[in-house]
Amino acid sequence: MSTRTVYLETYGCQMNAADSDLIVGLFAREGYVRTDDAAGADVMLINTCAVRDHAEQRVIGRLGELKRHKRPGDVVGVVGCMAQRLGPTLLEQAPHVDVVVGPDGYRSLPALVAGARDGQRTADVEFRSWEHYEDVEPATEGASAFVTVQRGCNYRCTFCVVPMTRGSERSRNLADVVGEVRRLAARGVTEVTLLGQTVNSYNDGAADFADLLRAVGAVPGIRRMRFTSPHPNDFSDRVIAAMAQVPAMCEHVHLPMQSGSSRTLKRMLRRYTREGYLECVGRLRQAVPGIALTTDIIVGFPGETEQDFADTVSLVEDVGFDDAYTFRYSPRDGTPATRLTDAVPDDVAGERLERIIARARQLARAKNLGLVGSTHEVLVEGRAKRGGLQARTRTNKIVLVEGNEDLVGNYMDVRLTGTTGSTFSGVPTRSGLELSVVG
Ligand code: SF4
Repeated sequence: MSTRTVYLETYGCQMNAADSDLIVGLFAREGYVRTDDAAGADVMLINTCAVRDHAEQRVIGRLGELKRHKRPGDVVGVVGCMAQRLGPTLLEQAPHVDVVVGPDGYRSLPALVAGARDGQRTADVEFRSWEHYEDVEPATEGASAFVTVQRGCNYRCTFCVVPMTRGSERSRNLADVVGEVRRLAARGVTEVTLLGQTVNSYNDGAADFADLLRAVGAVPGIRRMRFTSPHPNDFSDRVIAAMAQVPAMCEHVHLPMQSGSSRTLKRMLRRYTREGYLECVGRLRQAVPGIALTTDIIVGFPGETEQDFADTVSLVEDVGFDDAYTFRYSPRDGTPATRLTDAVPDDVAGERLERIIARARQLARAKNLGLVGSTHEVLVEGRAKRGGLQARTRTNKIVLVEGNEDLVGNYMDVRLTGTTGSTFSGVPTRSGLELSVVG
């Protein structure tokens, strides 16, 4: 019998990307190999996001397309946060979908797929707070890997569906995380990104996030360490000290801000004020000079006035982010914010989104122009879409460099020679080239 193949398409955050590696690892144990081609795959899975309606609509569209590739005996499944949110109703809405599995049920996926071949259609959306998939080896490739250290979220931001789709917060044991990082390092991984919904609230009962940073940063072979996404309230002095002192810790933090208006932040239940956010930024910048900061912003949250929006723009200006991911508020069924009755009209929210995008881009561009001419260590990640290589600085800036594929996975020093405003072009310095040869 020929080898069975699994096709997996991933939407949403890095947590989903890490879960997809885990799912491929689970299927590999059953003898499956991953394929990039949906047509001809024995199993077609979509790992979904539920954070915005737009993401869910895209999945519905993709499911329609996958239906065309489904031959007798093939299995189509929906996994992830949208699967958790909709559960069995997804089976009713899409008759060609065989399995629907939430983030805590991936262990049973191969068995459910086997059952689907016998005509069983199943939804598994049970929360299993103990599930960390400790014995599953994720199918990671290359020099960089995601490592999930925490699942679920105990915050209850009023706009957010995540606590409903991923359950309560729980952390893996520090020793288990370090063990996984050691195995990754033995396979040639040199950069790890620690993942959690509010990753810096990590606590396994004995060790906190500061301990985790020090332990992972000390694993031989790990040259770069990142984490995402933190909550501003969980940057204790201990965590910030560890960030400043662990050499592998990269000088970049993605620090979700959501709004610059204390009034809106309160209605979002973000649990910090504008001033509190700024104070956090100040502490990070003081401890880690030159740290790059990126953020998430929601505009058009219910009740957002023109003054609230102006506060958001001014906070973006005050902080001077390196990049900002901006979104229009998207109501999600079952979240507390849907009970707020003072919705912002669509056209107003759309216009605010355009304004914040333009301002954030302008500021990022000015900041990036100031970096042209400076030299940075980059990790070469792969081929760039338009030829050449794509590399990344410790501060998370993307740099396009000339070179052949042998350099992928290597570090080198490059001088930034230009910027589009967001990405850079660069040339290896003489010493950088020497570095790249020794890897
Ligand atoms: S901290 Fe807030 S926005 Fe982030 S996952 Fe938890 S509830 Fe959602």
